[in-house]
Parts: sequence; C-alpha cells; structure tokens
Amino acid sequence: MEPYNISTAGGRISGVGVGGFLLGGGIAFASVDKGFGANSVINYEVVLSNDTIVNANEEENEDLFRAMKLPSTNYGIVTRFDMRTYQSSEIWAAVNIYPFTPTLASEIYAQSEKWGHKNTRKANMVSIGMMRNKGMSAALTVQVNENGIAQDLLTLIVPIMHLETVGSAYRVVREVVDTAITATTRTRWHTITTKIDTEYFIDIFEKCEDIMKRHDNRENILWSIAVQHFQKSFINATKESPIFNALGLDIHIRMEWETPDDDAALEEAAYELGTLAEAEARKRGILNDFIYLNYADGKQRVYERSITPDDMNKRIEVKKAYDPAGMFDILWRGGYKLPVGSYNKIRADEENSAHDEL
Ligand SMILES: Cc1cc2nc3c(=O)[nH]c(=O)nc-3n(C[C@H](O)[C@H](O)[C@H](O)COP(=O)(O)OP(=O)(O)OC[C@H]3O[C@@H](n4cnc5c(N)ncnc54)[C@H](O)[C@@H]3O)c2cc1C
Repeated sequence: MEPYNISTAGGRISGVGVGGFLLGGGIAFASVDKGFGANSVINYEVVLSNDTIVNANEEENEDLFRAMKLPSTNYGIVTRFDMRTYQSSEIWAAVNIYPFTPTLASEIYAQSEKWGHKNTRKANMVSIGMMRNKGMSAALTVQVNENGIAQDLLTLIVPIMHLETVGSAYRVVREVVDTAITATTRTRWHTITTKIDTEYFIDIFEKCEDIMKRHDNRENILWSIAVQHFQKSFINATKESPIFNALGLDIHIRMEWETPDDDAALEEAAYELGTLAEAEARKRGILNDFIYLNYADGKQRVYERSITPDDMNKRIEVKKAYDPAGMFDILWRGGYKLPVGSYNKIRADEENSAHDEL
C-alpha cells in the first residue's frame, strides 16, 4: 500500500506471514499507537469445522469476532482478514549492533526504562536484544519513530553495525530490519513478561551466557534475549485484547540454528533459558502472568496465563458453539488449545509429565 501512503499493522520482518501473526496478536511498528495487529482487524472470514464459511465482525457472529482476537487454532481457518488502514507516509528506523559489555548493557537498558509503561509518547518503539553468535556476545537495538523523525540513539558508543532509514514501513522492513536480522528455518522461542528491571536483564543474560557457552562449538547458532515494551499507549490501544496482565515488558528468548542434529539439544537449551528467566523474575517479584502467544514455546500455557477467567469462560462457550465436536482439537495439532475437552486434558497431562510448570 506504499503508493497510497497508507499502511496497516503487520509483521516487522518479511518472513512473518499474515495468518499466524494476526491470530496470535501481532506486534507491529504501529502497535505503539494502534495496539496489536488483531486490534486493526474489522472482519474475519472463517471456515468452520462443519465446512461452513462465516464472517465474524461487530454485526455478524459477534461472539466469534471477539474470540478471533486471540484464537490460535481453536475456532477455524481464516480465509480473509479485513483490516483498518491508516495514513503512513514515512517512518524512521535505526538498527545498531554493539560489542556486548556490562556497561553498555546498563546504559541502553537504563535508557530504555524511559520507554516503559509510564511512557506516554505514542510514536516511538524501542526493542533491545542481547545476543551471542560464534562465541561472541553483542547488543542489538531497534528504534522506530512512527512520524519519520530521527531520534537520539540509546547510547553514544560507536556501533559495529548501523542501519538507519526514513521511508514507508515496507522500505524500513526491507532495507533495515531484514538486513540486520536474518531468520533461519530452525528456531525456538520462549517468552515471559516482566516489570522493568535493568539489573535483572543484565544478570539473566550473563546467566544464560554461562549455560550457552557449552554450545559455542556448534555451527551457525545464534541466540538472543530480546526486550520490548508494552508501553502505555500500546496497552491503551488494545481494548479487547487479552493484555490485562502485561503492564511491563515482553522478554523473549530466541534460539536459531541450522543443523538438524542440533534440534534436540538446542530446543532443550531454549526451554532451560526460558524457565531460568521466568524463575528468576518470579523470585525478584517482577514477573507478570501474560505470555505473548506469538513468541511462546509450545509448552507454555498461553491461555491459562494471559487471559482473565471471565474471558476464558467466554472463549470456551464460543468454542462449544462453533466447534462443538472439538474437531480442530483432534485434527489440527499446531497452535495453543483452549483447556476444554478430553483431548486437551490428555495433551496437558502428557506435557505436565514432561515438564513441570513453574
Ligand atoms: C524472525 C521472526 C521475527 C518475528 N517478528 C515478529 C514481530 O515483529 N511481531 C510479532 O508479533 N511476531 C513476530 N514473530 C512471531 C510471528 O508472529 C509468529 O511466528 C507467527 O506465527 C507468524 O505467522 P505465520 O502466518 O508466518 O506463521 P505460521 O507458522 O504459518 O502459522 C502459525 C500458526 O497459525 C496458524 N495459522 C496460520 N495462518 C492461519 C489462518 N489463515 N487461519 C487459521 N490459522 C492459521 C497455523 O496453523 C499455525 O498454528 C516473528 C517470528 C520470527 C521467526
């Protein structure tokens, strides 16, 4: 939509598709002002398990429409999303990579505290990642301004890589984000939400570094701990989305590798880092319940942790109405299932026996 100077809330890297992104929430550059991508969807065309096709919007199947704001694979297959658009001629973005030192980390985390929950500025989005690749640690910062206005960088330390541009969201994705962040085919994520705490972020990266040193000799592995803010304007814009508990930051651990032989060890390592980060946040009293579906590990209890009991009951009622036989639980293995029905009970029991929930 670049030629028309309009945009909508989509992924921030080309490899992210439309379906999964919008059905798990969707954090876009515009989220600072527009909430999740799902908040911009005004109509879903859905194929139900009884092979009928329905529209879900404010007027038609309104209960399904609400549930589709975080449906995962529970209700149906979406064949069309109608979304609100907004004027967006140019946005500004800068991506910087720095050699990791504790001093640098303290400085950029402390700067980023300004972008936390109390922040009322609507146009700026900041994400920070600490990462390790080929035995070397580095810090990554991503800064975006929705009005196309260049911002001060989080530190004056000279980066080893600097990319900056002003242009359409499409151009920013292609020229800045895609260049800095390459996605591989083998990846595992784990996520939690916490209050802002610079000391915790630094400690947790160092603890994870210690664990991951034993994997330094594996080829082409990159792991990171990224932090991004659910700032006030973002939360205000989410309205019906299940973000009630998320007054803080999303932290996600991302592990990427290329060799299939490394699958088991690195999937386990990602889980180990995630549970460590969560246990440490809980111990320090900074853990929030919310788990962002699109960054979660398959074993994380997204629905049980992220939505209110009232919302859970409503979602279960919608499930019973639109997929009464639980066909999508039986035939559609991916995604996060609502805790309903015997199939899910068996699945939950299997998972519980494999990993204790913290
Ligand atoms: C490198 C990278 C960067 C990322 N950046 C962001 C980001 O900026 N913001 C963000 O919010 N997330 C981000 N993510 C996470 C991303 O949102 C999820 O991976 C999301 O699932 C991607 O959507 P997809 O359609 O490509 O996924 P898929 O793997 O195709 O689908 C994910 C799930 O959704 C279901 N699904 C897909 N399409 C439909 C449909 N039409 N109807 C019903 N179910 C469907 C699938 O069955 C599957 O269970 C990133 C992920 C990666 C790997």
